[in-house]
This record gives sequence, C-alpha cells and structure tokens, in this order.
Amino acid sequence: MKKREKSARLMTAHQAIFHCPVCRGEMSVREASGMVCTQGHRFDIARQGYINLTVGPVRSSYGKDLFDARQNVIQSGAFDPLHAELISRIEGPAGDQPAPRYLLDAGCGEGSHLAAVCRQLEDRGQPVLGLGLDLAKSGIQAAAREYGDCLWAVADLADPPLRDASFDVLLNILSPASYGTFRRLLRPGGTILKVVPGEEHLRELREEYDTLKDGGAYSNRETVHLFSRQYPDFRQELMTWTVPVDDERLAVIARMSPLSWHRTPDAGERLFKRGIRDITFSVVVLEGQAGPDREPSVVSERLEEK
Ligand SMILES: [Zn+2]
Repeated sequence: MKKREKSARLMTAHQAIFHCPVCRGEMSVREASGMVCTQGHRFDIARQGYINLTVGPVRSSYGKDLFDARQNVIQSGAFDPLHAELISRIEGPAGDQPAPRYLLDAGCGEGSHLAAVCRQLEDRGQPVLGLGLDLAKSGIQAAAREYGDCLWAVADLADPPLRDASFDVLLNILSPASYGTFRRLLRPGGTILKVVPGEEHLRELREEYDTLKDGGAYSNRETVHLFSRQYPDFRQELMTWTVPVDDERLAVIARMSPLSWHRTPDAGERLFKRGIRDITFSVVVLEGQAGPDREPSVVSERLEEK
C-alpha cells in the first residue's frame, strides 16, 4: 500500500481528534487525498503520508540536515534510556486494553522519540495511537518517511487543530511548551511528560561551542519553575548517561544540535582534536497529571530549549 493511502486509512480511523484549523468544524478524510471540514476547508495529505494543517505561510529555522542528524542519533540508541523511562511512566496494567490510548508529541521534530515509545508500548500489548505535531515541515517529512505507524501533521503548536480532551498522554520533548494548549488537549486525569535538557547535557560540545551567555552554565531552572506552576504536584527525575562515540558519530551529534549554529569557526576542529570518546546525555523528565478541571491558563515559555 502506498504511504499516502496507509496514512489516510489510519487518519480515517482517528479523524474525530481533529478539527478544522480555519473554522474548528469537524473534519473527515476524503479518499486518500486529504481532509475536509463541514464548511469545505480542505487540507492535503502529502504523498509522504503526513497532513499539512497550517493556514498561511510557515517559517521554521530548523532544516533537513538537523533532522536527519537527530534521526540518525536517536535510531542509533542514544536516547534509549529516556525512552525506557517514558514507557515506564505511560505503561498501563497488562491486558484489558481494548481501545488504543492517544499519545500526542507536541514538537515531535523528526518523530523518532514518539515512534520508539509507541512501538515499544505496542510490543508490550498496549495499543496506542501516536500523533506527532511540529511546525517544521522538514521534520514532519522525515518522520512520515520513516514511521508509518503514527500520524504526522504540520501544525501550529500554539493553536493545534485538535479537539479538546483528545489525549491520554502528552509528550513535549526538548521542545518549547504551550501550557494553555496542553491543558485543553489532555483528558481529565491524563499525563504530561515534559523532557528538558539537564545542565550537563552534551557538556563536551557546550565546552567547545560558544553558547554560554554571561559566563554562566546552562540552566533549566526557569523551565522547571514554569512547569511546577502548571502542575504543582509534579515530579521530576534527572537522568544522565554517556554515549560512546567515534569521530563520525561525534560529527553527527554536533550536527543535530543548534549549538553548532553559534560555534566559533575553529570550534569544530578543536572538538575533534580533543579525541572525545564519550558524550554526556542528561535530561530531566517532568511529569504532571491533568486535574478534572481543564480551564486553559495563559502561560507559555519564552525559552528556546532545543
Ligand atoms: Zn473549516
């Protein structure tokens, strides 16, 4: 089956979670070509198998090279410890799971985290439907190309075209949050898992690349504080591990991070001369539960976290 038809079939089964980005009307899939709302606004399913639900021009500074590098690094297993942790937080009791649970990855980029989490949950007999959203079209294209078992959409994360209370689990991994939106989309009792960089994350790269403003170390304090205001009963866990690298892998890891945007001309060269053989990965997993009340509040992050 062609990618577009496979996606259209999956989208048809779950079309109730979408609403029209223009008029908020109900949407339905029309054959394999796209979705149409009750007022006739139309959105195409690309041949790669994703749907574009944006209205008007979209600008994203993240390009194909960065997403390809991330896909390569994540597929190589560099984030496996994180995926195991996320799964342990999401996994329900064994058996008795007839209906799939809905997972949203808000800011999914090239999709590897969501795809890995969904695949492993399915392997454990836990049916899930994963939807990945990102405003970066090149990220969504890379996701759809690799992972046909999830749904992928280019969409505005500040106001995603999704029905209220559609999701059991919301992932927000190394990507800016939009808490009002998250509150609207999570079902009562649903779980949000936000992953932010630990202060040691990619330490070996940060040491070489000139990203330290005001001479201070990178801090996630403000991000964690914002999360705690939204979910006062939150819990957090710091995870740190190292990934062995050779020069080739080191180059890919350097490419996956926007840190490389700011590097001084000879920083890349210095990085290789240091003979680095391990890279530190460090993240904080923040977990919150949606209460019975889904009243949106208007707090969003100013920090760019990628
Ligand atoms: Zn419409």
